[in-house]
Amino acid sequence: MAWFKRVEKGIVTPTEHKKETPDGLWHKCPECKTVISTAEHRQQLFTCAKCNHHDRINSQEYFEVLFDGNEFEELDENLSSSDPLNFVDTKAYPDRIVATQRKTHLKDAVRTAHGKINGLDLVVACMDFNFIGGSMGSVVGEKISRAIDYARTHRIPFLMISKSGGARMMEAGYSLMQMAKTSAKLALLSEEAIPYISLLTDPTTGGVTASFAMLGDFNISEPGALIGFAGPRVIKETIGKDLPKGFQSAEFVLEHGFLDFIVHRKELKERLTNLITMLQAENQPKASARKTAAK
Ligand SMILES: [Zn+2]
Repeated sequence: MAWFKRVEKGIVTPTEHKKETPDGLWHKCPECKTVISTAEHRQQLFTCAKCNHHDRINSQEYFEVLFDGNEFEELDENLSSSDPLNFVDTKAYPDRIVATQRKTHLKDAVRTAHGKINGLDLVVACMDFNFIGGSMGSVVGEKISRAIDYARTHRIPFLMISKSGGARMMEAGYSLMQMAKTSAKLALLSEEAIPYISLLTDPTTGGVTASFAMLGDFNISEPGALIGFAGPRVIKETIGKDLPKGFQSAEFVLEHGFLDFIVHRKELKERLTNLITMLQAENQPKASARKTAAK
């Protein structure tokens, strides 16, 4: 049965003749396992052409998807967190911040910017999940609040892209205060009739869902995103019942009236452009009517 055995022994291929596939050349869809080149995956805006799965992307990619020619002015880019509670878990909080900053090249879990989409001015705040789970601490709250103020000063529509595990436990009560702060700023934005669109991406949970993410003039989402307040296990234990299928998916949340629509990432820019154009046209007469009333 010689053909089952390696007859010739000691075949040695010199290292320079060994063929290796470079890392990161291929992407495998985590949902349907389809393999495509990373270049193609990028072209598809990190979505799967076969099963529609949307991979998680960060602020860098969203800014690239949305802003014309990837041109934008970043706001408050150097805000960084302090350690009000001297918090230590497996690591001291300041050490964790520094390590995460070094790893992600981000300052905190949100980036805010002003740019143009299809020629329309837009202020965008986009969360980064790879920065301590996109958790909302004082820097996230402050940057979002300042971005809203910027939108108010310049009368520019505001888009929030949420992607978060909720409040940052290392800042405890300070994190929770950000819910009230951002919500109050959004109320001012609304009073001044400036459009606010909230895009919920995978995952949007906890204090983020319970504050700014659900306060948009339009609350929209990407397909398949996990959207909820508490995790399914906690809810199951609390109500003592099994949860329905698809619970906390964007589709489920849409069906139950908490979202206005779900948008494919490839259509995001166009849909946002239409929405902003519509909202601005809608708000124009109201704003002038108020002025007349004030006179
Ligand atoms: Zn797929």
